[in-house]
Amino acid sequence: MTTAPLPVQDLPDLFRQALDASDHAALITDLDGIIEYANPALLQISGYELEELLGAQCRIFQSGLTTPSVYQALWQTLRGGAIWEGELLNRRKNGELFWQHLHITPLKSGDTVSHYFSSASDLSEQRAIQQRIDWLSTFDPLTGLPNRSQFVNRLKSAIQDVIGTHHCLTLVHLDIDSFSAINERYGEQESDRILKQVGETLRGTIRHGDILARLDGDEFGLILHNNQIDEQHPEAVQRFMDSISGPISVNGIETELSFSMGIAGFPGDGSDADSLMHSASTARLAAQAEGGNRFMFSHGGPVVSKNARLDLIGQLRRAIDKDELVLHYQPQVSLFSGEISGFEALVRWNHADHGLVQPAQFIPLAEETGLIIPMSEWILDAACRQMRDWNRQGLPALRIAVNMSARHLHMKTLPEKIAQLLAHSGLAPWQLELELTESMMMHDVAVVIGIVDQLKNLGVQLSLDDFGTGYSSLAYLSRLSINALKIDQSFVRDITSNPVNASIVQATIAMAHKLGMRVIAEGVETEAQRIFLRRHGCDEIQGFGFSRPVPAEQAGQMLREGRRLESSTPAADDHDLPTLMLVDDEPSIISTLRRVFHHQGYRLLCANCAADALELLAVNHVDVILSDQRMPDMTGVELLSRVKELYPKTVRIVLSGYADINAVTDAINKGAIYKYFTKPWDNEILREEIRRVFYTLRE
Ligand code: C2E
Ligand code: MG
Ligand code: MG
Repeated sequence: MTTAPLPVQDLPDLFRQALDASDHAALITDLDGIIEYANPALLQISGYELEELLGAQCRIFQSGLTTPSVYQALWQTLRGGAIWEGELLNRRKNGELFWQHLHITPLKSGDTVSHYFSSASDLSEQRAIQQRIDWLSTFDPLTGLPNRSQFVNRLKSAIQDVIGTHHCLTLVHLDIDSFSAINERYGEQESDRILKQVGETLRGTIRHGDILARLDGDEFGLILHNNQIDEQHPEAVQRFMDSISGPISVNGIETELSFSMGIAGFPGDGSDADSLMHSASTARLAAQAEGGNRFMFSHGGPVVSKNARLDLIGQLRRAIDKDELVLHYQPQVSLFSGEISGFEALVRWNHADHGLVQPAQFIPLAEETGLIIPMSEWILDAACRQMRDWNRQGLPALRIAVNMSARHLHMKTLPEKIAQLLAHSGLAPWQLELELTESMMMHDVAVVIGIVDQLKNLGVQLSLDDFGTGYSSLAYLSRLSINALKIDQSFVRDITSNPVNASIVQATIAMAHKLGMRVIAEGVETEAQRIFLRRHGCDEIQGFGFSRPVPAEQAGQMLREGRRLESSTPAADDHDLPTLMLVDDEPSIISTLRRVFHHQGYRLLCANCAADALELLAVNHVDVILSDQRMPDMTGVELLSRVKELYPKTVRIVLSGYADINAVTDAINKGAIYKYFTKPWDNEILREEIRRVFYTLRE
């Protein structure tokens, strides 16, 4: 075999400089893995000095934690002359582990492979964030107990385990009586302390193998194996109740804590996890309706009567025909401009006897019975028509968000229905935002992805609601091309006092932005929460702090009055803001664009000819430049080709008419420009596209 010259010596100076300057870790080894070149980025990530690496075996980075089969595949691929790409868990000099995504290429000298070149990006931060998100999406950060989604999964597997055996399961649904009164009286911090303490007490009562979870707010769930409590032995249940109830001290005052408990057994009270959960929670509601401080078994409770349920279903069915459903609208506010950026439509049932009934009390039943389909169609139609009405009154064209139901999302005809609805109402597709939840998308993934793609093609926006309460893989999310992510209120609630939630919110914002998504925080009630979110780059907020959901009339009034956040925190210093340059010879276009990007958190620079633009570029750092194509002194493409040479890091975008498309496409192919938008443009879409460009710059 001919010995190839050392690539390190062989490297033309320019290439070497490029490798040295790369922020990706680069390494060149000989065929035995002996290191011949390492760039500064690798030294920084690994903590080694260059002298320590040159001549060393590349095994020096191995952590011993990557499975041997990965290395076998790696060497097999390389020896076959092909490129290997994959992830390795490596170790720094100081012993710390770090993940790398590697791309290893065999380098040839003539026909023979002489060296291997590896280029890697550091995945540690991304992995750590993913792990945190994974933990927080399956555990409740306050009590450290599993959360609802994990509980349901564990219930499903517990059911699978006992099917076909003589064993049985008991599901207990527990709720603290009058917890909202405790909350109001003693405040959030004390209430959290009580919840923690209840979690501890319950933990002390369960046997090994049983499962305890915090389902939501003050609700806990237990999965018990083998008849530890059943109807034949109510005294055992009473003993359990007694062991967890009683006085506790809050702020030095004794307060009596009691529970309502619903009990359902498998297989008697339900054949799967959903029906069992439903049976236990209905029994719990029955116990509560009887005044609380009691337990009820699923099949004996008076409230669970079939007739009452049938009656309620009938009423709900008629509610749609009788026009008893109403929509309330809750504004979403931009943290950059302080202005209302959209509304979420939230349904209520105006019941003849019970007044305004909240969705939590009838949506689950509607889901279960399928009534949710006609109901959702009514809601979509009403929401689109309302936004269209506001537009017709000359109020700003904004987004209207509508909550989707799982059943509706799985209907193959949904995209067609939505297309008809948009055509019928005359609403621009981007104005409709469909809110999906993680759990909705976890079943029949292939079907859902198909439907979601079709919805996207219609031009409607998609957001992911209640983020953090389900289980989402970020890879999956990025495949769905979601426009916005709504951080669930359970994270926002104690964001200023709970470091775990604060860091998860920060990580979520960073991650969502990397994926090009807008972030909306839900349930923002206080100024401190708002400032925190603003500081960490959250785009929008929705919550009682700005406004509760209100009837259409009041929402329209807010728009007419131009209601906005009182003290939208200004960004620290204009010069710290990312810079957007606008170039157009038409003064009216410049002023329209100024308005479009006003209050969006950018520093704006404007030029009305290419020469001015170049002058401004010479004295200012510009992140993104948006230029007209037809200008008297120079075309946009020409200007941007020069910018590419002078300031390669500036992202270059052209705004052009259809007539110029050929020149522009050619420029894109040559890499002179990054993107083009056509005139006339849609303000909201342009704003969103530019926002996405800035997100990618933050990486
Ligand atoms: P969601 O989609 O997450 O809606 C947000 C809920 O949070 C609303 O409750 C809203 O009133 C409440 N909220 C907003 N800001 C705050 C705040 O600052 N503090 C607190 N504590 N709460 C706040 P709402 O209207 O009771 O709706 C509850 C859920 O019912 C919704 O959760 C959604 O899942 C479902 N829902 C509501 N309307 C519809 C609908 O039209 N269709 C479907 N399928 N589901 C709906
Ligand atoms: Mg929602
Ligand atoms: Mg939500």
